[in-house]
Amino acid sequence: MGFNETFFLFSLFFLHISVSIAYPHSILQILPENRESFHHRKIPRDDNQYCDSWKFTVETNDAAPWTRVPSRCAAFVKDYITGDRYRSDSEAVADQSLAFAKTVKISGNGKDAWVFDIDETLLSNVPYYAIHGFGSETFDENSFDEWVDLAEAPALPASLRLYRELPQLGFKIILLTGRTEFQRNVTEKNLDYSGYSNWERLILRGPSDKGKMATIYKSERRKELVDEGYKIHGSSGDQWSDLLGFAVAKRSFKLPNPLYYIP
Ligand SMILES: [Mg+2]
Repeated sequence: MGFNETFFLFSLFFLHISVSIAYPHSILQILPENRESFHHRKIPRDDNQYCDSWKFTVETNDAAPWTRVPSRCAAFVKDYITGDRYRSDSEAVADQSLAFAKTVKISGNGKDAWVFDIDETLLSNVPYYAIHGFGSETFDENSFDEWVDLAEAPALPASLRLYRELPQLGFKIILLTGRTEFQRNVTEKNLDYSGYSNWERLILRGPSDKGKMATIYKSERRKELVDEGYKIHGSSGDQWSDLLGFAVAKRSFKLPNPLYYIP
């Protein structure tokens, strides 16, 4: 064995030792001699890591469809949604949204639009979910509607900041929500209570939208806006069904939401 080969083997050995010490449970441990055992080994994962990974699949839409937060993740979701990380993630999304908005060439014809979803996008229903298991309970439409009727959902601070900046850049604000026409008054009242004002239009589900998948209902309404001459530059929503489909915005911005899934 020549000097170069010996040096190479020594380097590999020390690299392996360093990596194993620095990342004891990391995928970096999969060096050739461990490959066999890796495939037969269960990676030890506590609830925190399991739930963090579960949340990743939720946000990437890999988990879809899902019905409720796994019970072992209720505490994780509570910590996330009531803690600094949710706020920080939301601020990061608002920052990226605003950075894009500033690059948009505004036509100035009054048809440059930004579409916002409402629940978990502009308004937070965390006070409701806090007393309903943080998404780990089966959704109960009646009790949720009673909460909506209170019109006391607080604003998501990051979204309120973005909402207030966009008109100054020349955007018209369109609100497109899965709430129904029956909830128009309480929704306007709640938006006003939480600091939102001066939207161009508030679109809610009408009788013909009953039972429609959100992706279809929202796409159809966006298509109507486009047919009216609106150019939808940006769209903000906490569900992929707010953002996917047809007549989609030039750029879509997904806010975090590990509480529930809407198809
Ligand atoms: Mg929403």
